[in-house]
Amino acid sequence: MAAPDPRVIRLLMELRRMGIADTKVLAAIEKVPRQLFVAAPFLDQAYENHALPIACGQTVSQPYIVALMTQALQVNDRTKVLEVGTGSGYQAAVLAQLCRRVYTIERHKPLLKQAEERFRTLRIHNITSILGDGAKGWPEQAPFERIMVTAAAHDIPPLLVDQLQVGGIMVLPVGEASSGEQDLVRVVKLERGIDIQHLGPVRFVPLVEGIAET
Ligand code: SAH
Repeated sequence: MAAPDPRVIRLLMELRRMGIADTKVLAAIEKVPRQLFVAAPFLDQAYENHALPIACGQTVSQPYIVALMTQALQVNDRTKVLEVGTGSGYQAAVLAQLCRRVYTIERHKPLLKQAEERFRTLRIHNITSILGDGAKGWPEQAPFERIMVTAAAHDIPPLLVDQLQVGGIMVLPVGEASSGEQDLVRVVKLERGIDIQHLGPVRFVPLVEGIAET
């Protein structure tokens, strides 16, 4: 086996220090080469603990936020997950290490195509991706045991709650993207209604309606 990359080791130590205790999540972060998901000018920062720009004016999230959201989602190798906002594909690739299948939706075609190419390169076969408006979910594949939204919604999207199984968990940033900060929330679907837990402030690009023109 290749010697571990010291930049990856340093990142994992930082995530542990910041409170990521789930060893399976840390192992998944260790396994997915973030350098394949960032644009060429930012290659030297691939293992820094911050968000980086990707195409179409979007961003790949900070590794700490990827780890925090993945940990909060509480998945296992039998879980069927929906991700809204494929972006670079990094978060989907991390989830794919831990889940049975990841369904992921992106509204920018160029981003989706690049992400799909990365999944092929890495031989990740348990991700199904489509171009679409993720705020509407993926009714043909519902219900989902877990849903992760990686773009900021004004409110918890009701259509996504509908597509979540009872007892299922959804993790998403809620609030105005323009205001700078949103609230990361963890929603548990109950027989009647939902239970909401606040996980702290985050910064995400907005959840935008419809498929992009590009
Ligand atoms: N999970 C991504 C983060 C990407 S940033 C990663 O690991 O890289 C958020 C992404 O959500 C952007 O690519 C943006 O285009 C996408 N997005 C925003 N609104 C959307 C919507 N309604 N449906 C699908 N994707 C959306």
